[in-house]
Amino acid sequence: MTDVMTDVMTIALLLLLLAGLLFWLAQALRQPTGIPWVRVVGSDTGGGRTFDHPLFARSIGLTGKPDYVLEKRGVCFPVEVKPGREATSPYESDVMQVAAYCLLLEATTGHSPPYGLLRYARITFRIPYTPAVRDRVLSVLEAMRADLTREPCARSHTNPSRCRSCGFVAICEESLISQ
Ligand code: SF4
Repeated sequence: MTDVMTDVMTIALLLLLLAGLLFWLAQALRQPTGIPWVRVVGSDTGGGRTFDHPLFARSIGLTGKPDYVLEKRGVCFPVEVKPGREATSPYESDVMQVAAYCLLLEATTGHSPPYGLLRYARITFRIPYTPAVRDRVLSVLEAMRADLTREPCARSHTNPSRCRSCGFVAICEESLISQ
């Protein structure tokens, strides 16, 4: 074997080892997050494949963009990431958000996701998408639509930090913080 061939084989071997090391490192980094190592179909985070448009289901009047849509064995499921949340169980509003993304994927792909994932700062929750959860999302959507047509109602809390992070603070007359 010539010296050149030996060098080429050595470099090829080193590259193979490097690829293996990078793959192992990527898996080691992802494993503690609870997010499976599967194909990323879309993302709303600026990394990977970004969505061209939000998901839109005219039949239920719902639109939205999950942080990620992953695919495992041909089935897509949503992932919502809330890195600032520290809790040992998921908030109901977050469960409904993930379930709404499951509903959107079901309506737009024709396949029901078995679950969605909700990632907090340290824990990933698997939110099952069952017929009961689906019914709950649909009734929440119905209640929200009914609220849109109601007269303005009084503030239901005395917590300024809720107003600080509220999307309506600029136009809300009941706000607890001065603008
Ligand atoms: S700003 Fe208005 S709508 Fe928002 S949380 Fe405060 S009181 Fe409620």
